[in-house]
Amino acid sequence: MNEREQVLQRLRAAQRVLLVLHVRPDGDSIGSTLAMARALRALGKQAEVVAPDPIPPNLMFVPGAEAAVAAGGTQGTFDTALFLDCASLDRIGAATLDLSRAGPIVNVDHHASNQRYGEVNYIEPNAAACGEVTYDLIHDLGVALDPDIALGLYVAIVTDTGSFKYQSVTARTHRIAAELLDLGVRPAEVGRRVWDSRTLASVRLEAAALATLVQDGELAYLDVTLPMLAQSGAEAYETEGLVNLPRSLEGVEVAALFSDEGRGEVRVSLRSTKRVDVSGIAVQFGGGGHARAAGCTLQLSLDEAHQAVLAAVRNALR
Ligand code: 5GP
Ligand code: MN
Repeated sequence: MNEREQVLQRLRAAQRVLLVLHVRPDGDSIGSTLAMARALRALGKQAEVVAPDPIPPNLMFVPGAEAAVAAGGTQGTFDTALFLDCASLDRIGAATLDLSRAGPIVNVDHHASNQRYGEVNYIEPNAAACGEVTYDLIHDLGVALDPDIALGLYVAIVTDTGSFKYQSVTARTHRIAAELLDLGVRPAEVGRRVWDSRTLASVRLEAAALATLVQDGELAYLDVTLPMLAQSGAEAYETEGLVNLPRSLEGVEVAALFSDEGRGEVRVSLRSTKRVDVSGIAVQFGGGGHARAAGCTLQLSLDEAHQAVLAAVRNALR
């Protein structure tokens, strides 16, 4: 039996499924997971979604988001734990509390760096989003897509592909999206909610972060610090997307965002445009991700994190 069939067998047999979002959940994690939870319920199964970090306000419109519970908030036991878009077990934060009351882990993902922590694992590194893998599984489970499932899958795909512009995008990505539009998804409405519903505080944070922007040849990076968050009034989740600013500079191959979280901890987001495998760099620092988008968290000061990561990036650029 191949990986996909093993996963399908588990899901068909499951009766009570715990679905786990990853920390700092993004559109792919949320959209894929909520769509799959709805599909499992359509098959008469119980499905509960646990969110180790809150779902950001701009993604609360995804059907089922309101019903997701915080870590530790699930009741009873589950015969199966299902992870979608989660590369490693350390990405589920305090949801380990809920996981302790669940059966074997089914791990479905599209990160090449996935650590295969499940009892069964189905990793499709060529998929542009876990939403594409989820689409296939829902199809194989024999569940007809309804408008709510379609919206979740569309959000997963449109966010993880940078609105259909990353290297991972294929003709099939567009064919799936077209089917989702036929089911009632309205792209302009999704775009407005996901990207054009920003707070003034997040734009002020962007201005402050841009003031730190450095370009050094094919490398560009910027910082977010706690005082910037405090002064702008922005929330930590609003740093999402800031790494696209250095990435958009002509001639830049690798872009980095350094978020100083305080407590001697710095989160690093890495992006590349054409050739450098930033996942390889993130893995060196205990993180992971994809060739073109990866991240890690360092127990260092901001200056030390700059030194360590920028040296690794320069090395990779040579
Ligand atoms: P972001 O920079 O948007 O936080 O993450 C970019 C990509 O890298 C995502 O696909 C995410 O799953 C992955 N990623 C980010 N941080 C980590 C991390 O600390 N560990 C692992 N394994 N993957 C990460
Ligand atoms: Mn993803």
